[in-house]
Order: sequence, then C-alpha cells, then structure tokens
Amino acid sequence: MRGAPHRSDAGMAPQPLPSTDTQAPPIDGATALPQGDPGTPAPEHDLAALFRLSNLSDLLETYLERPQLDIVHRAYLFGARAHSGQLRKTGESYICHPLDVAHMLAEMHLDVDSIVAALLHDVIEDTRVTKKELAAEFGDEVAELVDGVSKLTKMELENPDEAQAENFRKMMMAMVRDLRVILIKLADRLHNMRTLSVMAPAKRRRIARETLDIYVPIANRLGMNTIRLELEDLGFAALYPMRYRVIQDAVRKARGNRREVMQRLETAIKERLRHEELNARVVGREKHLYSIYRKMTTKGLSLAEVLDVYAIRIIVEGVETCYRVLGIVHNLFKPLPGKFKDYIAIPKSNGYQSLHTVLFGPPGVPIEIQIRTEDMNKVAEAGVAAHWLYKSSRDTGNTAHARAREWLQSLLEMQRASGDPVEFLENVKIDLFPDEVYVFTPKGQIMELPRGATAVDFAYAVHSDIGNSCAAVKINRRMMPLSTPLQNGQTIEIITSPVGRPNPAWLNFVVTAKARSSIRNFLKNLTREDAVQLGRYLLERALGDLGSNLGQIDAATMTEALAEFRVGTLDALCEQIGLGQRPAVLVARRLHPEGEAAREASSPAESRSDEESTPLSIKGSEGTVISFAKCCHPLPGDRILGFLTAGRGLVIHNQQCRNVAEFRKKPDKWVQVEWASGLAEQFATEIHVEINNQRGALATVAAAISELESNIEDVKTKERDGLHTTLQFVLMVRDRVHLARILRRLRAIPSVHRIARV
Ligand code: MN
Repeated sequence: MRGAPHRSDAGMAPQPLPSTDTQAPPIDGATALPQGDPGTPAPEHDLAALFRLSNLSDLLETYLERPQLDIVHRAYLFGARAHSGQLRKTGESYICHPLDVAHMLAEMHLDVDSIVAALLHDVIEDTRVTKKELAAEFGDEVAELVDGVSKLTKMELENPDEAQAENFRKMMMAMVRDLRVILIKLADRLHNMRTLSVMAPAKRRRIARETLDIYVPIANRLGMNTIRLELEDLGFAALYPMRYRVIQDAVRKARGNRREVMQRLETAIKERLRHEELNARVVGREKHLYSIYRKMTTKGLSLAEVLDVYAIRIIVEGVETCYRVLGIVHNLFKPLPGKFKDYIAIPKSNGYQSLHTVLFGPPGVPIEIQIRTEDMNKVAEAGVAAHWLYKSSRDTGNTAHARAREWLQSLLEMQRASGDPVEFLENVKIDLFPDEVYVFTPKGQIMELPRGATAVDFAYAVHSDIGNSCAAVKINRRMMPLSTPLQNGQTIEIITSPVGRPNPAWLNFVVTAKARSSIRNFLKNLTREDAVQLGRYLLERALGDLGSNLGQIDAATMTEALAEFRVGTLDALCEQIGLGQRPAVLVARRLHPEGEAAREASSPAESRSDEESTPLSIKGSEGTVISFAKCCHPLPGDRILGFLTAGRGLVIHNQQCRNVAEFRKKPDKWVQVEWASGLAEQFATEIHVEINNQRGALATVAAAISELESNIEDVKTKERDGLHTTLQFVLMVRDRVHLARILRRLRAIPSVHRIARV
C-alpha cells in the first residue's frame, strides 16, 4: 500500500523484529510456536500478560467449553512468541494489547474463533507469521478473520481526507465479508483509543479524527451504542482537549445541584409506577460529553441550556407496558408538544427501539424520558452484538453470517410490524452487503463503482476524456487488460494515449451507463472516414488473431461474405464494424473460417446436437451460426450475451445465466448481441411448477398453458413429498411478455403452490 509507513495503532517502540522461524515443521505433533526473544519476558513469565490471560479465561469459562479454552491458551502462547521483543508505547509487552481486545470481545460472548483471531489480530501485519501458518495452526476461519482485520489496518495508511470519510467507511464495510472482522476491528480501535495518551500529539489527533469520521459511524450503523459513546468521548477528548475540559468541568460543577433534582424526579416517577403496580427500573442518566458538545454545535445552544436538561430511562417488561408508562408519565408531568417519538413502532435503521418524550418537570426544566423493554435495552446497548450476547451461547455452530442475517431478519420483522416501508432496512443492508466496489485513484481519491465495473468504467468515471483516450491500465501497479473487473481497495492507474480512442468492443464489457453512453456517443460522432478506418483497423486485428490479414482474403470469399452481410463494399462493412454495429470477430471468422478451425482444433470438441439452430434472430449475426443455450433458455426481452463456441458458432446466453460469469473471463470470445426486432418465431424456455398432489392438477396446468398459445415441448414430473410434485416444463413462447402472461395465469390456479422460471 502507499503512504508513509506509520501505523494508527498505538504501535510498538522501534524494536528489532523477532526471528520467528515458523517454517519449521511441528515435531511429534507439537505446536510449531515461533521462537521467543530475550527482549521481553517469556509468555510463561510475563506477569502483566498472565494477569490479563487469567481474567480472560475466567470470562470465557462462563460460555466456552474446556477444549475451546485450550485453543485460546495456545493462541496466547503463539501470539506472545510472535510479538516477543515488541513493546507497546505504554511499556508493556505487545501481547497485552491483543489480550485486552480479546477481553472486550469475550464481554460480547463472541465465539472461540473470534477470540483466537483477536489474540492474533496483529501477527500478519506486525510479525513474520503468515496467513498460511495461521491457517495450519488455528484453521482457515481464524486465518480469514485475521487477514480481514489486517486488510482494514493497512487501509488506514491511506489516510483519506475528511470529505472522503463517508466513502472510506463504505469501502471498509464492502471489504468485509464477515461481520466478526468489523467487531474485532472496533475493539482494536477502542483499545487503541483508550491508550491514546502515549502517542505524539499530531498522531493522536489524526487517529481521533479517523475514529470520529469512520469508526463511530460504523458502530452506530451496527447499533453498538456502548462502544460508539466511548469512542466518541475518547475521540472528542483527543481532538479538542480544551473544549473537552471546559464541558467536563461544567458537568462536574452542575452535578451537585442536578443530583438533588434528579433524585426528586426519579422518586416521583418510581412512586407513581408503584402505585399503578408496574414493575420498572428507573435510571437517571448522564449525558456523554461529546453528545453535549454536538447538541451545542448543531442546535446552537449554550452549555447551560444543554446541561439544564434531565434525562431518565425507564425499563419495563413488555411492549404494552411501555405505552402504559408513557401515559402515566404524561399524566404526571406535562409533555412538551411535538417531542414525542415512537421508535418502537418505527425503529431506527440500526434496530434501536424506544419511546422518547420530553416532559416539563417541576423545577421548570425539561426532562427527556426514554421508555423501553429489557430486550430493547440490550439491543440499544450492544446492537448487532446482542445476537451473540443474548442468544443461546452454546450453539457455536452458528456462523457470524447466520448471526448477521438473524439481526437483519429481526430488523425486517420490526419493519414489517411497524408497516412503515421507508428507508429503514435499506441503509443497513446497503452498508453490510454493498453492491458497489470502492477503488483508489493514484492520488488516493476513492471512487465508487457498481460491482463488476472494469478499468474502462473507472476511466470514464474519472473523466470522459480519460475514458476516450485510455490505452492501458495498471491495477496495483501491474499492467492488466482493460476489461478486468475491479476489486475493493485496488489502486487503479489509467494510461492514456494521444492517439487512443474508444474501441467498440468495450461495449461488450463496460457496466456503467456513463461509459456506455460516452462510447456510443463517440462512435456516433465519428465521420464516415473515421469509422471506416477504425473498422478496418479492428478487422485487421481480429484477422490477425486468426493468423490472417485482409490482403490474404481471396476475392471470391470477400464477395460472398459481403453478399451475406448485405453490404456493397468492404468500406461499408468496415464502417459498420467501426460504428459498433457488427462485431469484428464475427466478420473475421466468416472471412477466414480455416483460422477458426485451426484455432479450435486444439480446444476440446463439444457436442452441437444439444443446441437448436435458428438463424437471423440476432442483430448483426448474418453469416454466423446462431444457437440458444439450453442452460438458460434466453427469450426475446432478456438481456443476452453471445459466446463463440468451438463448432457451434455463436451461442446466445441469458446474461443472468450462471455460466456467464465463467465466459466473462474470456472477453475475446464473447460478443455483445441484441435481439433483432419483429421476430415471428417461438423460443424454448423452462419453468418449474410446484403443485399440490391432487387429481387433475397437471391437466389444469397444461390446459392453461395451451390456452395461452404456447406449446409444451417437454414435461417431467418429480414428486417432492407425499403432498407436492414439481412439474418441469419446456415451453415454446414468443418472448418474455408472453411467458409472463403464462406465469400469471398459472399462479392463479389454486393447486399451484410455487412457480419459477429456470
Ligand atoms: Mn491492534
């Protein structure tokens, strides 16, 4: 990665790296531990570390099994040896930091793999231990977690400016396929923030800024409020030490008077609830310093105004009770109009639920009241982590993704219950499982592109002039084909050329509308001569690939081909190629079929009998054998892709076909195709219809199909269980619309219970 080699971790003092010869094979099945270093105490004698290890073990014993605890101990020894010789700036041996991080995760009851990964989270980045060694020692899962954390740590070096924070945060989320990586990273960051005071001031500020800009929003998105509040206060203290101290002092001074008022309010509420025979916990809460500061800045309030607010939380047993308590407190003190918010019916997008109201209290001050159930309180504090903490902790087979999905599921259910279709879940889903990739420009700017975007899409996203003149690309400093799909975190450098121009073939792989329309636009504005020249160049290149050139094509073949393509001259043909109306590869193959044969003789022969051959359904395909893939049965109206297949000409696939991903790796073999208009023929398609086993069900379905003027080419039945049967039909239909009408009709049949196009 680029950037100065400084770490945001409250890193180690400059000690020599330990000589960890972990390549040595384990002897007699013993663990291959890295060798120790005399600079720090041996792991068995490091008191500070052992004290932490013993606390960690006590905590883990409450929810892990014996063998799992043994693995944790082994991870401690492994980590301590790997880091031996390294010290934290606090003067303690390095392993104390991973031990503290592991402890935080144990408080969330995370699984054994997460705890082990937390103990080893810095070994890939900071020691000579490799991912492979970790996998051999502790399994793939742990190795993947540590690798994920290391990738995020490396990204911190990129040091994005403030305006980029949002994208940077999204990129981090996009890079993470396992939520546990984020949880480990958050704990890592929290521990580094707790020990931030040992860092130099400039570095302290940079880390604090990053924490507020990147990690606080992530914690917030995941609903992890306890961690978020602490990160905020620590970040605030480091970034604005003076303001922090002023507010801290003011809060401390006000505390004496406040305590008395608070007591009176609490007692009043408690008594009223007891009178109503309601079980409830009433807790006065103190505002966090950063939220006081934020209220001052965002609402333009003075410190006195912010402090002059009392906050009380009431925790009850059931949802019904929340609303009853609301009524009771509204009765007790007058509510301030317009302040009531029902986050139970409409939860926040991270799953937070509570009733909020503001009362006008006896000393003439506002009282902010939150009312929620115990369960809601747990989610409000731990967010996504609540699913580890409070669900059955023994079922360790439950993966992190299952937990994350469980969490999303609970959000979904809440949304369904609230009946409110607004943004809600969308934000969370987009952040956790994004459809975008995030890449760096050479200057460290972050660009957001849709998944599957290529270097050409990137070039056009930077500027259409860059796109129009791009000639090559370096991805992470290596030359790659322009059609390469981009991956999260890569650095993309486009190499332009003054004579570069868009290639119509790019239309085959670009995915962004901007790239597509820019290329089309360029091609449209070509003069005829330009188009002819470009087309001739592309045709020569395609012929070159087949081991031929235009000069070698004999006149008879040329005349024949021109007639087939229905163009008068070679120039007219080249013009069509240059304008992107006709793929150069197809023309080249028609002109030099021997080259095709020679080239394909080496590739394994594939049977052609399983594809039906239908000419002229595809624009620009004259003179080429066309067939439709049986794996996906494309229909007019589907987005399609042509793939040049040995012995079968151009095979048309649905772009959504599962085989297409494989084809995309061979851009020279596939061709952008479009349906010709005004097709009269019928196309095969496959549907599966699941019916209840009852007499005449199949007949009803078949009758409905033929009523809608479709022929059944084939039908197979497969009994699923005693109750249901799946009918697998191959139907002939005109296009997607025709098929949609058939599906709609079938769905209306009572015995049909599920239906899908294959
Ligand atoms: Mn760390």
